[in-house]
Amino acid sequence: MKPDLHNSIWEQLAPARQPAPKLQQALSADVVVIGGGLTGLSAAYHLAKSGRKATLIEGRSIGWGGSGRNNGQVIPTLAAMEPAAMQSRYGEHAAPFIHMVRDSAGELFDFIRSHKLACDAEQSGWFQPAHSPDHLGLSESRVNAWQTHGGAAELLDKPAGDALLGSAHWHGGMLNRTGGHINPLKLSHELARLCAASGVQVFEQTPATAITPKGDGWLISTPEGDISANAVLLATNAYTSDSIEPRIARSVVPLTAYQLATEPLSEAQRAEIIPAREAISDTRGDLWYFRYTSDHRLVTGAALLLKAGAKPRLQALLKRRLETAFPSLAPLSFSHVWNGFVGITADFTPRFHELGPNYYSFTGYNGRGLALTLPIGREFASKINGQPCALPFEPPREIPLHGLVKRVARSRLILTRLQDKQRYKP
Ligand SMILES: Cc1cc2nc3c(=O)[nH]c(=O)nc-3n(C[C@H](O)[C@H](O)[C@H](O)COP(=O)(O)OP(=O)(O)OC[C@H]3O[C@@H](n4cnc5c(N)ncnc54)[C@H](O)[C@@H]3O)c2cc1C
Repeated sequence: MKPDLHNSIWEQLAPARQPAPKLQQALSADVVVIGGGLTGLSAAYHLAKSGRKATLIEGRSIGWGGSGRNNGQVIPTLAAMEPAAMQSRYGEHAAPFIHMVRDSAGELFDFIRSHKLACDAEQSGWFQPAHSPDHLGLSESRVNAWQTHGGAAELLDKPAGDALLGSAHWHGGMLNRTGGHINPLKLSHELARLCAASGVQVFEQTPATAITPKGDGWLISTPEGDISANAVLLATNAYTSDSIEPRIARSVVPLTAYQLATEPLSEAQRAEIIPAREAISDTRGDLWYFRYTSDHRLVTGAALLLKAGAKPRLQALLKRRLETAFPSLAPLSFSHVWNGFVGITADFTPRFHELGPNYYSFTGYNGRGLALTLPIGREFASKINGQPCALPFEPPREIPLHGLVKRVARSRLILTRLQDKQRYKP
């Protein structure tokens, strides 16, 4: 399957838009943001609002990467690091980062509301159900950890969880009412519109081909015009190519994740299944996750060990999962299948880098970056402006034998699926 964004339900539900032009001349800019995903767009927007002359270049179209393809779940946690681990890793820099993660979902929905961004936002909450009775212990420890840091997490027991889900498949879990879901491609388009309205020069179909030092600043080469800049943010994340920045490309493994949308559910099904429309992603390592679209489909997804024959095998796998959890969905069929790269780092945590003077980048939201993109973009803008920044900067950590790891990364799924069957031990 080709990585075709146009197979997605998000594309179908997004209104037609006028793309930004291609860069076709040499340019001088104050700050260049490379990558038109949500992180790059947020950084460019916040830079422009602070009075900087920001230029954003996107190699394909706005939202073409993870930002336009994801499941749209707005989740205020990291994929694999709880507050205690953040404290021991980041020391004195931990508190601002923990608060940023804690507030990320609420901040995104507030931003969407205050700027009237049309992206089918539903702040209906995010629920992480426990996939075994033991894993409710994990939910409880996560709830306690976030409550200690002022987070909005609540523990639901099995009856309350079953009522929320319309299913007896899980065992209670952690609810965070600041979360929810959006159409991520529409959000990307709306943020690009806001950037342009705020004075950001946006160019699409303009890939950076090299970033080289020039005087006190940087020269960003593109096929039809180079840009001189004082500062650069490389916001290409899991889509970073080796040729442009090997330090980033080799510290992240782009794992192909597939997304599937069902046909719209009937009113009777919707009254029974997740009736208050929370975003759901459970405690499995190989997550079971679902959320409603504005036209009442469920969007779910998975990764696969082998790419061959992906579409029918995915449909069979996810039909089995959904019909197990929600028997009244049978017989289920899917209307849309698409995919995207999730940026996986060696320890499943994001990393933030200063690659040179006034040259910044990051890697690896590990499949949980949507809520974080807005504050992370804002914090990069602060850093570029020489102001206090909540991001804990670290050197890039290249993955040894990166080429080989890229090829075998999917086999980790076997391990994850086995671990999902094991008991949770605190
Ligand atoms: C299938 C899937 C499901 C997911 N589900 C969720 C979810 O439900 N909730 C959640 O929190 N997270 C989810 N994620 C993760 C989330 O999508 C990402 O963390 C987030 O979108 C990252 O945004 P970004 O702006 O950093 O990167 P991206 O959106 O990937 O943007 C990078 C951009 O850089 C561009 N680019 C690359 N090279 C160049 C170049 N040389 N020059 C110019 N431009 C370039 C690319 O075209 C791309 O548009 C999911 C990811 C995937 C793939």
